[in-house]
Amino acid sequence: MPEFWNDGDPIADTAAPDGPIETRWERRKFSAKLVNPANRRKLTVIVVGTGLAGGSAAATLAEAGYHVKSYCYQDSPRRAHSIAAQGGINAAKNYRNDGDSIYRLFYDTVKGGDFRARESNVYRLASVSVNIIDQCVAQGVPFAREYGGLLDNRSFGGTQVSRTFYARGQTGQQLLLGAYQAMERQIGLGNIEMNARHEMLELIVVDGKARGIVVRDMVTGEITTEMADAVVLASGGYGNVFFLSTNAKGCNVTASWRAHRKGALFGNPCYTQIHPTCIPESGTHQSKLTLMSESLRNDGRVWVPLARGDQRAPGDIPEDERDYYLERIYPSFGNLVPRDIASRAAKNVCDEGRGVGPGGLGVYLDFADAIQRLGKKAVEAKYGNLFEMYQRITGEDPYVTPMRIYPAVHYTMGGLWVDYDLQSTIPGLFVVGEANFSDHGANRLGASALMQGLGDGYFVLPTTLGNYLASGPYAPVSQDHEEVVAARKAVEDRIAKLLSINGDRTVDSFHRELGHIMWEYCGMERTEEGLTKAIGLIRSLRDEFWQRVKVPGTGEQLNQNLEKAGRVADFFELAELMCIDALHRRESCGGHFRAESQTPDGEALRHDDEFSYVAAWEYAGASPDGKPTLHKEQLEFEYVHPSTRSYK
Ligand SMILES: Cc1cc2nc3c(=O)[nH]c(=O)nc-3n(C[C@H](O)[C@H](O)[C@H](O)COP(=O)(O)OP(=O)(O)OC[C@H]3O[C@@H](n4cnc5c(N)ncnc54)[C@H](O)[C@@H]3O)c2cc1C
Repeated sequence: MPEFWNDGDPIADTAAPDGPIETRWERRKFSAKLVNPANRRKLTVIVVGTGLAGGSAAATLAEAGYHVKSYCYQDSPRRAHSIAAQGGINAAKNYRNDGDSIYRLFYDTVKGGDFRARESNVYRLASVSVNIIDQCVAQGVPFAREYGGLLDNRSFGGTQVSRTFYARGQTGQQLLLGAYQAMERQIGLGNIEMNARHEMLELIVVDGKARGIVVRDMVTGEITTEMADAVVLASGGYGNVFFLSTNAKGCNVTASWRAHRKGALFGNPCYTQIHPTCIPESGTHQSKLTLMSESLRNDGRVWVPLARGDQRAPGDIPEDERDYYLERIYPSFGNLVPRDIASRAAKNVCDEGRGVGPGGLGVYLDFADAIQRLGKKAVEAKYGNLFEMYQRITGEDPYVTPMRIYPAVHYTMGGLWVDYDLQSTIPGLFVVGEANFSDHGANRLGASALMQGLGDGYFVLPTTLGNYLASGPYAPVSQDHEEVVAARKAVEDRIAKLLSINGDRTVDSFHRELGHIMWEYCGMERTEEGLTKAIGLIRSLRDEFWQRVKVPGTGEQLNQNLEKAGRVADFFELAELMCIDALHRRESCGGHFRAESQTPDGEALRHDDEFSYVAAWEYAGASPDGKPTLHKEQLEFEYVHPSTRSYK
């Protein structure tokens, strides 16, 4: 029996039809039960999250006639983290006539995810991608256009076609404004009840089904229980477990983790994306990192000096003393290799002592060639806001001096396990967007998160959730049902406990230390020894947290320390599971690089015979020995056969 976990029964996705992959989604849609329009208004759906996944889901469900209760912790739904997305959204429109197709997007995504994603889901994602663009254009999203009026495209990593639609470096913001307007229309019509500044702190499960949530009003501290016929989590990713990441400071795992504790399995928690082009850390004062969009790799060239320890200014290093290492090692994809490959390559050259900037933890992203070829104006038109952001943060002008970049935590491919219907292992609990584990395998390709979030919310969930609701009606649950009372009490007790410790360490100091452990041992490179050590360190730091954390203020007021304390407490439990997942997966795949499993030239070495499965974890507290239980979902590849991923 493994030391840190128990082996459980296998798990299967029984929702996806078999047969030809091209028609699976059509057939699922046709077989799904429908709810009569007149009955929809009698049904209530809770949607937690108003980013691209939750915003699109809420708007579409309300448009279809359901009564929707929507929650977010920001002061407005349109401030969800999706607003930060810069570079673009993929779609297989083939406007460039460069050989793109739904099949190619499907192929690129399965391969890009290092053969650790489900083919059925990925094919569906590729096929709805074309509808997403039409939907957003109809909403008025101002995508960049070419001179002739057609929508423009650029390339992102892991592909050899141009299929990324964009709105300068503000694609997420513009897409979110589209979804938000659609939501606002339904808020105005009374079909969406919007609850901003409300944080979900518990899931309510009655008779095995998700029936509601416990929320805290973040301004008054009031705790209420909210009931519904089904619950949708669209609560985003958990990269902030590393403390420093490109995610917004508020991003957290609490909604998903509370559901996990109530029985929802967690899929592939260790799959984390480390993005190659972020502004390097500048000191211990920092509380977050800033992304420089992958779109910059369309025109920027990545290099380091050939010689170790070369301290000259970049402009003083002649061409023949530079190493454009991505172009050298991966001639077919060059600077547009996928993120996991580019990140590891940057780490390798820095480990060799050829990194640039403070501490040698940086590589150059140089636009000199592009400026010479296209002119400064053209470069400014494409990337102006990103260049300005870089200059404001670093004080250096990237039109003159190459940007310095370094990998940073960016996205989490892991998340709550869902079937093809996006339903978790708790009936009635659906999970969309970054919060689920579904489509990206061990490495997400750039510009595919926006595609997935909007695909889930606008096109997939409305059908599959309808199918669940049509199997009802589910008996109303009263506020004094024992499960509702117990869930509310659990939230009140936890808040009281956090406030009562009154120790001598801040929440942030614990979070920062946890982040260091995760980055050191569960970051870009993982080893059995390091992960085992990390589990011990996390456990003792977590014990210390519950003894020494200081949360000033009360629960009946706006209290950001209390909010953070609850989130960090959940990060501790998640962090341990991430390390256990990383430990058990004795192979390298995508963003999960186990130093013990690499090819002679340092590339990730998969072990398909042993690890071609999704790791779906059951909550540790559910087993008598307090260990998480591993359920394996075997992956089948009928169309894109696993091969060694090569971008050379
Ligand atoms: C800097 C940056 C740039 C990016 N650029 C791109 C890009 O160009 N292309 C691309 O495809 N992807 C990009 N990504 C990734 C992409 O932005 C995200 O994966 C995606 O936006 C996530 O959307 P979401 O709707 O799942 O979650 P989010 O947008 O994170 O929304 C989460 C929502 O859940 C709510 N919430 C969370 N927990 C609770 C709770 N407990 N109670 C109540 N509400 C809660 C929040 O308030 C929020 O409304 C980028 C990511 C970053 C960090």
